[in-house]
Amino acid sequence: MRIGIDIDNVIFNTAETVLDVHYEDTGERLHLSDITDYNMTQFVSKKYRYKFHELFSDSRVVERLKPIENCVETINNVFGKQRYDILFVTASPIYIQPNGRKKLQELFDFDISRRIVVTKNKSVVDIDILIDDCPNYISDHVLNRNDPAILFKYPWNQKPFIGETLGLSYRTDNWKDIDKLIFIMANFHNKNRGENQCS
Ligand SMILES: [Mg+2]
Repeated sequence: MRIGIDIDNVIFNTAETVLDVHYEDTGERLHLSDITDYNMTQFVSKKYRYKFHELFSDSRVVERLKPIENCVETINNVFGKQRYDILFVTASPIYIQPNGRKKLQELFDFDISRRIVVTKNKSVVDIDILIDDCPNYISDHVLNRNDPAILFKYPWNQKPFIGETLGLSYRTDNWKDIDKLIFIMANFHNKNRGENQCS
């Protein structure tokens, strides 16, 4: 069984870091709680919007990224020991560039170099469970693949979304919960496919 894990705001605290650097550059203080839609740029003052997206690949942001609590332990201890296959599925090309890839590799015990997929069409990637903070990616995965997904909770994904209607997606903001959810989903997945748990 293969698990697809988004990187920004699921493994790293990207939005928080981007907002910190934006504040340093402009004096405009935005908090995570202000970002109530996935498109962050609309919450930035018009005069700063045109180059706000550049912050996501800014070297200062990449350097300062911190892993979300319990993420590293969960992935290393539970997933990394070959219990499940893992792909890091991101829309951000920064993680296949040297500084981004190094930043990600530093977290994990296993070699990540062949495990990073950069795409804006995540539902075509052959993964059974997707963990993401973007409702559209979760919807695409659930609706196109009929497989389960975990939405990492943030102010920008609080509203109900179309993929939720199938009952295959779950919301949490805690990696310890994700560990348990994966176990439950994996058993359901394997039962449906007649596989054993470790396949
Ligand atoms: Mg993300």
